[in-house]
Amino acid sequence: TRTFFVGGNWKMNGSKDFIADLSKSFDGQKTDGVGAPFVYLPLLAGVLRKDWSLAAQNCYVKDSGAYTGEISGQMLLDVGTKWVILGHSERRSLFHESDEFVAEKTKYALSKGLKVILCCGELLEEREAGQTQAVVDRQLLAVVKSISPADWKNVVVAYEPVWAIGTGKVATPEQAQEVHAAIRAFLAKNISQAVADETRIIYGGSVTPDNSPVLKGQPDVDGFLVGGASLKPSFLDICNA
Ligand code: 13P
Repeated sequence: TRTFFVGGNWKMNGSKDFIADLSKSFDGQKTDGVGAPFVYLPLLAGVLRKDWSLAAQNCYVKDSGAYTGEISGQMLLDVGTKWVILGHSERRSLFHESDEFVAEKTKYALSKGLKVILCCGELLEEREAGQTQAVVDRQLLAVVKSISPADWKNVVVAYEPVWAIGTGKVATPEQAQEVHAAIRAFLAKNISQAVADETRIIYGGSVTPDNSPVLKGQPDVDGFLVGGASLKPSFLDICNA
């Protein structure tokens, strides 16, 4: 059985004041993961409940060295981070991260003991051209080739159709279920039935407290990765749905 997982992705949002306010409204309540900008991770580690997990939104593939501007997985662990979001569509498109680089990052992060929220998803043009599954399979195959079957217990797959991210156009429950089921079939075919059965596949893209209950009702939707709505106190309604 797969435990429902809800993570927040603040993207490049937040401030010290914001964190002070949020920690008051989140006081005493439980969620799974909060993905904050690097510079706020140590601050959040201090104010979040200990059963909340901290997530970073990226990391590099070396522990230390001459990589100006980069942050290592080792550093993330050092400040109390448990999870890292990798392969987000904004990193793939705006920062030109290839499938292979995302796979390399995933392998590195897992080797350090971080857990990975691995994002995949198609562009609107790709969906309209009937390529959704081919795109998602290609993105995931690079990772399948790079990590071992045993590593998948520390991976959550986030299906985030790019056309649904930040647009208010949430996937319908049927659209989400169709792709999630296909991702599970892909994992069964390319790794094992056990990995397919145990890996959480979460949905991201315009998730709100209003639409989360019906999405949650789909058999292969094992949680959410929440962007904009994770910046509001009502994020907890999604976590507790
Ligand atoms: P929104 O929830 O703002 O659409 O963002 C989704 C997302 O990109 C989470 O990683």
